Amino acid sequence: METAAPSTVIVAIDGPSGTGKSSTSKAVAAKLGLRYLDTGAQYRAITWWMITNGVDTDDPQAVAVAAGKPAIVSGTDPAAPTITVDGLDAAGPIRTQEVTSKVSAVSAVPEVRTRITGLQRAIAAAAGGIVVEGRDIGTTVLPGADLKIFLTASPEARAARRSGELRGADAAGLAATREALVKRDAADSGRKTSPLAKAADAVEVDTTELSLDQVIECVVTLVAERQGA
Ligand code: C5P
Repeated sequence: METAAPSTVIVAIDGPSGTGKSSTSKAVAAKLGLRYLDTGAQYRAITWWMITNGVDTDDPQAVAVAAGKPAIVSGTDPAAPTITVDGLDAAGPIRTQEVTSKVSAVSAVPEVRTRITGLQRAIAAAAGGIVVEGRDIGTTVLPGADLKIFLTASPEARAARRSGELRGADAAGLAATREALVKRDAADSGRKTSPLAKAADAVEVDTTELSLDQVIECVVTLVAERQGA
C-alpha cells in the first residue's frame, strides 16, 4: 500500500558497501513517492571521466585540477535512475572493476567532494522530497535531513550480497569480494575530508539478519514516525 508522505521529506541513508543501501533507498523512495539520488554513482561517474580522459587517479593534484570539468547529470526517478557524463550514458561504464578500484582515491580529493557535494545539495533542494544514499549524507551533505539512517551488516553478509550481484559466488570469488569491500570501506572511512561515518543523530540498522523487505519496512516505519513526531 502507498504510504502518504509530505513531498518535502529528506531521508539520508549512509553506510558501507554491500549493506543494501541502493535497493533499500530506491524501494523506500518509490513507496513514498520521493525522488532518489545515488551519490556513489556520481563519484563513480567523475572517476570514469578521469580514467577516460587520461587523468592519473593516483595523483590528487591532477584529479583536483580536473574536478570541475565533467558535466554530471543524475536522473532521480527511483524506478529508473540515470547518470550521464558530458551527455553520455554512464550507467554501465561506472560499474566496471576498474572504476570500483579507483573511486575511493578520486573521492578522497577535497575538490572532488566540494564539486559533487554542490551537485547533491542542488538536486536535494530542487527535489521537493528525496531519499539520498551515500557515505557522508547525514554528516556533511544534508545535516538537516528529516531522517538519517546508517545501514550496517557483517563483512561476510556484505560480500555474499555483492558476489550474488556479480553472479560469482564461488569461495575464491567471495573471499576476493570481501577483501575488496573491506579495503574500500577502510579507505572511505579513513580519508580526511568527509569520511564514511554515522551521524550522531542517525538510526543504525544492522541488516545482517534482515531480508530486503524487512529493511524497507523498517525505514518506511521510521519515516512515518518522524513525520508523526
Ligand atoms: O555506493 P558506491 O559503492 O557506488 O560508492 C562508490 C564509492 O564512492 C565509495 O566507495 C566512496 O569512495 C565514494 N562515495 C563517497 N561519498 C558518498 C558516496 C560514495 O565518497 N556519499
